[in-house]
Amino acid sequence: MDMAPEEFRRAAHQAVDWMADYLATSRERPVLPAVQPGKLTDALPRHAPERGEPISEILADFERLIPPATTHWNHPRFFAYFAVSGSGPGIIGEMLTAALNVNGMLWKSGPAVTELEQVTLGWLREWLGLPPEFFGIIYDTASISTMHALAAAREMTDPEARKRGGLGDLVLYTSEQSHSSVEKGAITIGIGQQNVRRVPVDERFEMKPAALREMIEADVHAGRKPFCVVATVGTTSTTSVDPVGQIADITEQHGLWLHVDGAYAGVAAMLPEMHGLLAAASRAHSLVTNPHKWMLTPIDCSAFYTRRPDLLRQAFSLVPEYLNTAEHPRAVNLMDYGVQLGRRFRALKLWFVMRYFGREGLAETMRTHIAIAQRFAELVRGDKRFELAAPVPFSVVCFRYAGSDEENRLLIEEINARTNSFLSHTVLNGRYVVRLAVGHARTTWEDVQPVWDTMQSFADGRGAAAGR
Ligand SMILES: *Cc1c(COP(=O)(O)O)cnc(C)c1O
Repeated sequence: MDMAPEEFRRAAHQAVDWMADYLATSRERPVLPAVQPGKLTDALPRHAPERGEPISEILADFERLIPPATTHWNHPRFFAYFAVSGSGPGIIGEMLTAALNVNGMLWKSGPAVTELEQVTLGWLREWLGLPPEFFGIIYDTASISTMHALAAAREMTDPEARKRGGLGDLVLYTSEQSHSSVEKGAITIGIGQQNVRRVPVDERFEMKPAALREMIEADVHAGRKPFCVVATVGTTSTTSVDPVGQIADITEQHGLWLHVDGAYAGVAAMLPEMHGLLAAASRAHSLVTNPHKWMLTPIDCSAFYTRRPDLLRQAFSLVPEYLNTAEHPRAVNLMDYGVQLGRRFRALKLWFVMRYFGREGLAETMRTHIAIAQRFAELVRGDKRFELAAPVPFSVVCFRYAGSDEENRLLIEEINARTNSFLSHTVLNGRYVVRLAVGHARTTWEDVQPVWDTMQSFADGRGAAAGR
């Protein structure tokens, strides 16, 4: 009952042609769609078709309806959140994954899924300078990776919890600048929001280790049970890097699990000039970094590493231990290392990306992004009407027009409308801040220059209006 192979071949070729054109011309599309909420819904039939429709009509409707209602992340002028790329080799890997449609729950159900995941994450581990004892597994997102880290941490401190339920007074520490996924993970595994301590940051938005130490000691004194610290390498707002080494001193002293969230910036450790980036993270119990952010891999692909796969497994495996003895030592069953049973073949696209670009190619792309961001930051620094709102360690620039929050809101609107770019904002120290995140494979300085030009005319206009 499936599509005939020849029909598939024709339609798939047509789809690939569309993809190639899309990638070649995406810069000309509006990065932000001019749509109102509900418009696409209203343009679609209210009921699913009773009878099948020709693939030609489906493809035509795709072209007519879907891209115009899409925010184009795969666009060189996407500078919001974290800019990402669905690169050519990654897209090809993703297509082949769909064709194989394999479910890698067990080694037996997907030997290639299981082994390629171990191999690619082993390669990546080496590129990032992480220790060989780090076991790697792919989840969909950093949020899910971090949740698994928290569950393994709980297992280390309170091994009865999984059976007993109810967690008591386990306390988690993370900085004020850490990602919301840390708190969501704590909610999910039952730690409770009131047991998530937000450690203050310094003027560079980096966690203050002394404050962390005081908070842990206060909790111990009060009879609560500190169990885990989540440090961030590349926070979401400013890409600040917590002092992981000093934090590791504290977690080691108190016997706490240390998880490092390097969702965006972790992969930058493959640049020789940033090789020390994860040196202290090697002391952590676990670490997450997302190839789907800065490593040209189509969403989703999150690499999770832990030096305690035994605890991760103990937290989630429902296979009685006695059944495992007959297993081949090289046949890992990835379903034992997390919540999900079924798993997509995500390592395939990662393998394509790592081989096609090589470490040098990926590093060169990141280096280019960093150079563009630094050049932009230099312009901001040199113009009194603007200010940098945070240091720029990687390829994200946080800045403000030296005026009101409202003016900065207007500035983003004006940039986005006039330059066909998409910039987003954050709030730092209670003030509205503009973010320029450079991270798309095809972004060049020529894509960023119009942003700066628009900022100039914005400031000129304001200055004239104020008689300055
Ligand atoms: C983006 C980001 C996340 C969340 O990533 P998902 O893969 O979307 O869950 C978590 N932490 C940091 C530091 C991030 O930058």
